[in-house]
Amino acid sequence: MNGRRTKIYEGKAKTLYEGPEPGTVIVHFKDDATAFNAEKKAVIEGKGVLNQRISEYLFTKLNELGLPTHFIRSLNMREQLVREVEIIPLEVIVRNVAAGSLTKRLGLDEGTVLPRSIIEFCYKNDALGDPMVSEEHITAFGWATPMELDDIMHMSIRINDFLTGLFLGIGIKLVDFKIEFGRLFENDMMRIVLADEISPDSCRLWDMKTNQKLDKDVFRRDLGNLVDAYQEVARRLGIIQVNETPERSRPKLVKTD
Ligand code: UDP
Repeated sequence: MNGRRTKIYEGKAKTLYEGPEPGTVIVHFKDDATAFNAEKKAVIEGKGVLNQRISEYLFTKLNELGLPTHFIRSLNMREQLVREVEIIPLEVIVRNVAAGSLTKRLGLDEGTVLPRSIIEFCYKNDALGDPMVSEEHITAFGWATPMELDDIMHMSIRINDFLTGLFLGIGIKLVDFKIEFGRLFENDMMRIVLADEISPDSCRLWDMKTNQKLDKDVFRRDLGNLVDAYQEVARRLGIIQVNETPERSRPKLVKTD
């Protein structure tokens, strides 16, 4: 968009630019899709916009709930203004139903309802393939303090409870999701806030009745059109209207007699 902006960081699905004021960052959601630690790649037109809009919706709701996030506001369909935080190098995964790596690791059938919600941690390090780590590793290596980890776990459970109910209301099962947290420094204070994004790129979302996948597994496993799946999530959340899809908003021939 704006060539004069200073790029801070380019990730797989998002680019970060310096924000208009100190302590702010602009997040640009790209159309790039990657899976299996970037071994599988594609550009999927429209994905970035859908992720931005879905994440905006969910972060706004979480902010309203009193759950602190980095999100300030959307700037346009693809970009958000967020507070600058120091990212804690952990992927926090919350699981309600067995899928993905958990099924392989423990030999569970996909779709098995877990005895209770389970939180897992992975160390954010692409070169190592984001290995799973325990609370012991996290505190021993100083990635987060025991108190921070306590906050992270409490917030993760609240986020899971809220999102599970929200998606239940629109006929979607929240199977699992990945979130990230950051340290927000305000004056002499520091607190942990939710950062990154929550979108079908980072969640497993299954239709309640048919178990149809409405998330990035559509791309990972070549199950169909990713944009259609994400659009369905956005539609059910009420973010986009039924006739807002690019195909249907094109001018149509109308018979006059
Ligand atoms: N996830 C993610 N980014 C990652 C790894 C996982 O967003 O780098 C999400 C993934 O979409 C799923 C959840 O975290 O909703 C659990 O993923 P899992 O550990 O099963 O790994 P995967 O099967 O995605 O490799």
